Amino acid sequence: MYEGAIQDLIDELGRLPGIGPKSAQRIAFHLLTTDPVDLTKLQTALQRVKDEVRFCEVCGNVAGDVRCRICNDPRRDDAIICVVEEPKDVAAIERTREFRGKYHVLGGAISPIDGIGPDQLRIAPLLTRIAEPEVREVILATDPNLEGEATATYLTRLLKDFDLRVTRLASGLPVGGDLEYADEVTLGRAFAGRRSAHD
Ligand SMILES: [Zn+2]
Repeated sequence: MYEGAIQDLIDELGRLPGIGPKSAQRIAFHLLTTDPVDLTKLQTALQRVKDEVRFCEVCGNVAGDVRCRICNDPRRDDAIICVVEEPKDVAAIERTREFRGKYHVLGGAISPIDGIGPDQLRIAPLLTRIAEPEVREVILATDPNLEGEATATYLTRLLKDFDLRVTRLASGLPVGGDLEYADEVTLGRAFAGRRSAHD
């Protein structure tokens, strides 16, 4: 459509999740007229995210250090582990202020179409963690869509023989979407009303 640098930028933006060709074009032309100071801030932020952000060695959440701030927080309850797909789900649940336990980020969900099976997810480290005697409950908080449901069902079976409570979020979340699409009140309620996965 365009030539040179502006088309390259549109192409790169269009590869980002959730950004279609029209949005890519709109953002590219916005950046073209943006104050150079703001543009430098954006450049720096992009560079820093690659240089500085790590994944927590315990839970897989994004972290500024070897461990994330939640795993490092002594006030958080080690007895409950909430299993989510992505770091953004941790952020969504944190916003509800309903949960004071720890997290485990799988790094995705089971999706045969995309070639993602259990082996591609951080399930082995989860099993290591729940083998610790202080862990009493695992909350399966995967997305309320096909892949999320498949993942939760798989984990429910896998955890059946462990001596702990396995729970799923209460229904009422918008079906088919991501956990993050639920508003804080709805997500908070789903958390408070969680039920046993083995019933
Ligand atoms: Zn962590």
